[in-house]
Amino acid sequence: MKPPVFEYASPRSVAEAAALLGAHGGEAKLLAGGQSLMPLLAMRLARPSLLVDLGRIAELDYVRDDGGEIAIGAMATKTTVERSALVRERQPLFHHATRLIGHPQIRNRGTVGGSMAQADPAAEYPAAALALGATMRIAREGGERSVEAADFFLSALTTALEPGEVLTEVRLPRLAPGTGWSVLEVSRRHGDFAIAGTAVTLSVEAGRIASARIVLFGVAPSPLRVRAGEEALVGERPGPAAWELAAEKARTAAEEPLSDPHASAEYRRHLAAVLVARALTEAARRAGASS
Ligand SMILES: Cc1cc2nc3c(=O)[nH]c(=O)nc-3n(C[C@H](O)[C@H](O)[C@H](O)COP(=O)(O)OP(=O)(O)OC[C@H]3O[C@@H](n4cnc5c(N)ncnc54)[C@H](O)[C@@H]3O)c2cc1C
Repeated sequence: MKPPVFEYASPRSVAEAAALLGAHGGEAKLLAGGQSLMPLLAMRLARPSLLVDLGRIAELDYVRDDGGEIAIGAMATKTTVERSALVRERQPLFHHATRLIGHPQIRNRGTVGGSMAQADPAAEYPAAALALGATMRIAREGGERSVEAADFFLSALTTALEPGEVLTEVRLPRLAPGTGWSVLEVSRRHGDFAIAGTAVTLSVEAGRIASARIVLFGVAPSPLRVRAGEEALVGERPGPAAWELAAEKARTAAEEPLSDPHASAEYRRHLAAVLVARALTEAARRAGASS
């Protein structure tokens, strides 16, 4: 099918883009890499009267150290992130998550902001953002605000972004020294969206688990934090018994995964538990703890 008729604008600044959105209300839509939006337009599942292309806004394309945090502009592509030594060295979880997304062609065009705003339940970036405690910076006509990742992903394909708002930056806080991490997923073929996945961080002090973050993706409408599993781990010795405990909490937390032709709900729940146990094993190794 062909997309419906729409107007097209190519602003050169965030302020200009926000003004265009402000003038057109919910009728306008932002275009980033187009990897999700263009198919939706072609299938007429999105019918904006105006497409506001962010592709020429140079001020949104960067990856940099900003006061110890890593700041990633919304229009930085996944390839830019994948090639960033800063991300690879300081936020290896985010680097690794990037490499699990689609194929090189998708990563060449798809942007960090586009993935966060799209909020696909099986996407790696929203889960990584939640596991790392990222902050989203958002601009609108005449103002801006910040939203924690925990408050940003509301449901499937739904975020805290209001009509008229532009996601401008994703900020990743510094990982505490010695924090182990892992991001694992199962997909039918390399490059496919995950059937289920997990992103975890773990720190160990004096032979005991001091803190943990466990996030599932692909098993709920938005990335799912397994708080019961995190709490159960604190104070435990790293090892199979602890990982099994957290895995069971993950299985319980994944209450009603999607059941579709790719996988049943029960298989997704099973994967959630298995992946959490494996990811924690890997994270503990990276944290320098024997398990
Ligand atoms: C074959 C294929 C395989 C894929 N595999 C994966 C995968 O394994 N994992 C994965 O996570 N993704 C996957 N994707 C999706 C890909 O990562 C997309 O790039 C991503 O979902 C959207 O990013 P984009 O820059 O292309 O955004 P677009 O498609 O341009 O936009 C997506 C949505 O976000 C909105 N938007 C974009 N930028 C902003 C902004 N700055 N502020 C506010 N709203 C904004 C748009 O209005 C639109 O609603 C795949 C895509 C394809 C085609």
